[in-house]
Amino acid sequence: MPAPSLAIIQSDVPAWQRMLSDLVTDPQELLELLGLDHDDNPFSSAAATQFPFKLPRWFLSRIKPGDWNDPILRQLWPASQEEAEVAGYGFDPLQESQFNPVSGLLHKYSSRVLLTASPHCAVHCRYCFRRHFDYAANAPSREHWRAVFDYIANEPRVGEVILSGGDPLALPNRQLDWLIEQIEAIPHVNTLRIHTRMTTVLPQRIDEALCARLKTTRLSVVLVSHCNHAQELSPESKSAFQQLRNSGVTLLNQSVILTNVNDNVEILADLSRKLFEQGVLPYYLHLPDAVAGTAHFDVELPLAQSLVAELQTRLPGYLVPRLVREEAGEYSKTRYA
Ligand code: SF4
Repeated sequence: MPAPSLAIIQSDVPAWQRMLSDLVTDPQELLELLGLDHDDNPFSSAAATQFPFKLPRWFLSRIKPGDWNDPILRQLWPASQEEAEVAGYGFDPLQESQFNPVSGLLHKYSSRVLLTASPHCAVHCRYCFRRHFDYAANAPSREHWRAVFDYIANEPRVGEVILSGGDPLALPNRQLDWLIEQIEAIPHVNTLRIHTRMTTVLPQRIDEALCARLKTTRLSVVLVSHCNHAQELSPESKSAFQQLRNSGVTLLNQSVILTNVNDNVEILADLSRKLFEQGVLPYYLHLPDAVAGTAHFDVELPLAQSLVAELQTRLPGYLVPRLVREEAGEYSKTRYA
C-alpha cells in the first residue's frame, strides 16, 4: 500500500496545531517583520537563550509595526534589561519547589491543586514567573501521572484541580481528554479550572472538540484567560469566548500589572470594558512576582493601589479586578484592593 501523502497527514492535524508550530522564534526576524531597528532596543542573547523568544505568526497581526512602545511587543521582547541582577529577584520567588509533593503537581492552597499539565506555551511572556521553572522534573509520563491522581484521591479537601503549565491548552485534545477523565474519576473533585493565554494569543485553539468535551464533563469548568491589554483581544478571541460560554464554561480574566504595558488607568479601564464585551469578567490584577530578569516590569504597590482606586470611580464594581500578590508560604493570595 502506498504511504499516505504529506498533504493527507497534514489535513489530520487540527488547524490550531499547525498554527502553534508556525512561530517566530528569531528576534531578528521579528524586527524585520515589524520594520524596527535592533540598535534602538537591542535584544539580549543571554535572555533569549535562557528563555527562548517565541510568538505565533498569527498573533503578529495584533502588534503595531514600527512601534517599540507597542504593549504586546513590550511583553514579548527579550530586552537587555533582563540581564540586570537585582537584589531580591530570584529563580523561584514563590518557593514552588516546596509545594511540589509529586512531580507535575503543586499543592499550595488546601482546597485546590495545580497540575503543570504542559511545559509548552504559544508565546513566551518575558515577565513569566515560571520562566525558570524546572519543567523537565515536572513533566510526568502517563505512568507517572498515576502518582498525581493517587495524591489527589487521598486528599479529600481538594475540590478543585487547576490545569496550568506552561499552557495546558498547548496539549492536544486527546491528552486533555485523558487528564479530564482522570480528574472526573475522583469523586470529591467538582471543579476544573484552566489557566490559559491561548484565548488571546491563539484563539483558534478553542475548537469544537475541546468545547464538546468541556460541555459534557460532570465538573464545573472555569477558564481563566491571561490577557494584559485590550489590544490582545480580537474578533477571533470573541468567537473563542463565545464557544466556551455556549459550552457552559465560566470565563474570568487575570492580568499582571506591568510597567509601560498597562500601568495606566485608561488602559486598565479599557481592558475591563473590552473583556466584558467579549463575555469575560476581570478577576485578578496581579502585582508582578520578583523573578530574576523581570525587575524592569515591576510596578510599586502604591501606584497599583491608586490605579485600582481610580478604576473604582470609573467602572461598576464587577469590572474592577482585585489587586493581589502571591507570596511564598501564604495560604491564599494577599489582597490589596
Ligand atoms: S503563557 Fe503563561 S506560562 Fe507561558 S510564558 Fe506566558 S505567562 Fe508564562
